[in-house]
Amino acid sequence: MPRWGKPKVDISYEGAEGYAGSDVQQAARLLPPPSERRVDPQLCRGRRAEMDIASGSPGPAWPAVVGGKPSDHRARLSSGEVRQMVKDLECSLPASSVRKAAKDQHSKRQPIACGVQLLSGHSCSYACRYCYIQDWYAFVQPAPTELSGTEVLLALLYNSNWIPSRDFIILGDVCDPFHQNLQVRTMEYIRAVAVLGSPIQFSTKSFITKALCAQLAQWSVAHQCPINGLVTCTTLRHVQQLEPEAPPVEQRMETIRNLSSAGLSTFLFLRPLLPLEPFEDFEQLILAAKAAGAEGVVVGSLRVSRKIYRRLKQAKVVNMERVDELLAAKGQRPEDLTEEQVDIQDEPLRRRVTDFALQCGLAPVRRACCANALGAQMPCRRSDCLASW
Ligand code: SF4
Repeated sequence: MPRWGKPKVDISYEGAEGYAGSDVQQAARLLPPPSERRVDPQLCRGRRAEMDIASGSPGPAWPAVVGGKPSDHRARLSSGEVRQMVKDLECSLPASSVRKAAKDQHSKRQPIACGVQLLSGHSCSYACRYCYIQDWYAFVQPAPTELSGTEVLLALLYNSNWIPSRDFIILGDVCDPFHQNLQVRTMEYIRAVAVLGSPIQFSTKSFITKALCAQLAQWSVAHQCPINGLVTCTTLRHVQQLEPEAPPVEQRMETIRNLSSAGLSTFLFLRPLLPLEPFEDFEQLILAAKAAGAEGVVVGSLRVSRKIYRRLKQAKVVNMERVDELLAAKGQRPEDLTEEQVDIQDEPLRRRVTDFALQCGLAPVRRACCANALGAQMPCRRSDCLASW
């Protein structure tokens, strides 16, 4: 059926013959520190110039500034190796795929604060009341991105706004990457980009089976590529009112259990942080995530636009007086809200959540990228990266 007036596209998947469970051991989580990880040239097919090999040089360094931020010594691939990977991919792919990759948005996008976005699909049918993507897309069944895994890898390598093997890759910004419509495409994309070794992070409310988690862990170890899973839960009690179509929280806890027992870094994604009434339940939520194997919790913010405000009010479990106060602190009246999203931070509530997480032995962080940084033991290139170790 046409979507948004566009003809339906036929989508095929690379290596979708089934992601069988592998024999990855639980010790997979323990990747060596970034300086000791290596990129296997056989896997990424990147090659250094003969002269560089003879001189022992790692090849051309990255420019001092990439994507507006100072580069550092943490990239495992030199810019020469990335250029060679691009040439290899251009030689191995049909011309139509190379053209598709060059024109695709992954080749041009400016990364957001959490990393370079890898979009395995668009839209979402979970219809969460606080969802900000609904300001851009309707709540409809998501459709996978057209590009194959290899094409999307080439598109990302064309993008000069980031440093492959250094900067973070994120999935889940405009969809749930493990929604059943997107799961196969997402696995294909993760497999394709894992060869770069850039820390990969996804956020999801969907159920991820043990077999898929084992497969992710196997790629993580084989490519020395850290993978961090964020499992979103904002409440245990008010799910029906706030996330009416999303998978049950029991399944999400099972996803935390499957990811963490496969050895992957797993955080509870408590975002948005909502002032709930009449019952707050962050303590039960944190205890449940801890019992399932989460190692930390992202205590996020709340974005409010005119539509989001209206939907939160209709849910009848959000303390709207508190939301109004937080908006007022930003000089914003609810009646003047527009499509523009206002980011509000409830610091007193965040402090209580953070203190409780610490008491339970979970690492609390403010931003998703900090969870990725902690899991990968690699700070991002922002000067204020909160992760420290
Ligand atoms: S799961 Fe995420 S993307 Fe989907 S509706 Fe909920 S908040 Fe939006």
